[in-house]
Amino acid sequence: MSRASLSSSLSSTEPSSPSSPFGRGFVEEIMKCVSCHEDYKLGNAGTCKECYEEASETKEDLKREIEDLKSKIGFLRICSPIDCNNNGPSSSNGFTDVVLIASGEEDGDASVHAHKAVLASRSPVFKAMLENEMEESRSGKIKMSCVPYDVLQSFVHFLYTAEVVSMDEQIASDLLVLADKYQVKHLKAYCEKFMSSKLNIENALMRFAFASQHNAQDLLAASLSIIIGNMDKITKRVEYKELVEEDPRVIVGIFEAYLAKQVNTAASNHSALPNKLASVAHASTRDLPFF
Ligand SMILES: [Zn+2]
Repeated sequence: MSRASLSSSLSSTEPSSPSSPFGRGFVEEIMKCVSCHEDYKLGNAGTCKECYEEASETKEDLKREIEDLKSKIGFLRICSPIDCNNNGPSSSNGFTDVVLIASGEEDGDASVHAHKAVLASRSPVFKAMLENEMEESRSGKIKMSCVPYDVLQSFVHFLYTAEVVSMDEQIASDLLVLADKYQVKHLKAYCEKFMSSKLNIENALMRFAFASQHNAQDLLAASLSIIIGNMDKITKRVEYKELVEEDPRVIVGIFEAYLAKQVNTAASNHSALPNKLASVAHASTRDLPFF
């Protein structure tokens, strides 16, 4: 018996009358359990009794596993320096051993304390920077050029917690740039997913340009899909005309994808034609009203 499925399919033990409005196999008292394919009487909870009980046990097991995982995550979760700061000033700064300095703030307050071990474990770029005898490793200071303080805070917070406190499109794009630069794959995927969920005809073109600049493949595919589905509207937009001037390579990429899609569609229509004709011929021999 399969653990997975609780759904069931209708099955007849006797052929129904041909005059039934729903055709053969409908309105019978015996149903077939999809999980184990045994017959069972209608009135049970969608599957046979055995499969239902097994699914209930599985559900309980999964609930327990989720609770275990939650407590494990709670135990392993490292307090982010942002959390620590919010919980009041700490003289030890939570045993931190490195400082990340936001753009344009040499020694000001706009710095975030962190742990080398955490940075190195989350980002191969930080790892290389801190392992080798580089300036950052010696001084314990990492200057984050072109990174505003609030973005730096969110970035470091994510490295500790895999969470973004207040996500919006601006912070998602800022974090994606950092994730790409410091090779934090999990954060990059997180931002791409968020930005893909906010795509529309208005922003697809600029998101596509952004994604190609930062090698964000999922966002690239999602925005391209919107663009090539709305080429007539997109090519009339102001940002399209701007991109033609400023970054024609992006436009060339779009047209290449668009043409490839046209060719594929034409090819699949061509190959589907014999099957379509065959199904029409088959249906007509059975004298069905619809096909
Ligand atoms: Zn069953």
